[in-house]
Amino acid sequence: MFYKCPKCQKVWQHPIGKCPECFLELERRKSEKIRVIGISKVTIPTMFHPKVPYFVLVLEDEKGNKWVQKSVKECKIGDEFHVTRKGNVTLEVVAIWRIKYDILEGIEKVIEFLGELKIDTQTKILILPTLIAPVHPHFAENTSPQFLESTIKYLEERGAKLENIKVSGQSFDEIPIEASAQKSQLLKVCQGYKIMPLDLAKTNFVKKSEGDFSFEISEEVFNSDLIINLPILKMGKISATENILKFLKKENYLGLKYLYSDEEIIKNLNKIFFRYLTLAEAQSVQKPDQFVAHLGLIFASFNSLNLDRVFAEVSMVKELPKCLKKVKIEDIPIVGRKVEELQYEAEKY
Ligand SMILES: [Zn+2]
Repeated sequence: MFYKCPKCQKVWQHPIGKCPECFLELERRKSEKIRVIGISKVTIPTMFHPKVPYFVLVLEDEKGNKWVQKSVKECKIGDEFHVTRKGNVTLEVVAIWRIKYDILEGIEKVIEFLGELKIDTQTKILILPTLIAPVHPHFAENTSPQFLESTIKYLEERGAKLENIKVSGQSFDEIPIEASAQKSQLLKVCQGYKIMPLDLAKTNFVKKSEGDFSFEISEEVFNSDLIINLPILKMGKISATENILKFLKKENYLGLKYLYSDEEIIKNLNKIFFRYLTLAEAQSVQKPDQFVAHLGLIFASFNSLNLDRVFAEVSMVKELPKCLKKVKIEDIPIVGRKVEELQYEAEKY
């Protein structure tokens, strides 16, 4: 993605917003036809790139813009460079992209890899960010305000009406959801777009059962055309899958948790569940020691367990969370970036 001034025609690689000379809003310009014009083979492993050999490609688009990209696949100079989906898109696919500066670009890419979403002026959209603690965004505890804002921008760009978008949350502990919404700065984003935040605890719940499991699920889920699970990922956890539990009634969830493991609850909930898209933030990622590692990634999938599994692979966690042990990484189709390109021992550094 490049950014061009409509007046002086200067082009920037960074989304600096306005042209520093003309003070005009820069236009976003996508690269359509990309060619390899340079290649270096790297054989020495480093902290952030432990898997060798890999290749650093210099790429050029049809407008003469150049940039570099890491690749595990060897290419030749002059090759056309494109990332495509292999075969049919299934609900099992996990898409990954690297975000350098522009979160919106990352969102566009991963959704494109999954196959386009149907969005129009009538589509009712329910967004569920991670919202669990009243803390500042730099702790990477809640979904970041930038990620939520970029998601809303994406939906607007695709034709959704702001009045049809709801940003939801629910507290499962003693902390009022309003406090978390304010401190995380997610409330500010909603206010900026005049979106009413929705406390799921105040909605009606619908009873659904599966075997011995009796669930009470917010009726908002069944009144929406598109559900976007918008978690921030954390190392060693199943952040994407866990977040969906927030659609349950608090008392119902706590009751189930008393009797069953999260693994059993999730397994049964998935059986009766509706389709939802998980769009997961993995730019700044919390490690088990609560320090933050910078991965600069975004993941998307219609299968949240697959997404959590691929993230565990990328972040090289030593001990897989219990729920993921049965999810085989070999069986998951992955598009966008390759796991080997992104892997490093994030727990250590
Ligand atoms: Zn200019």
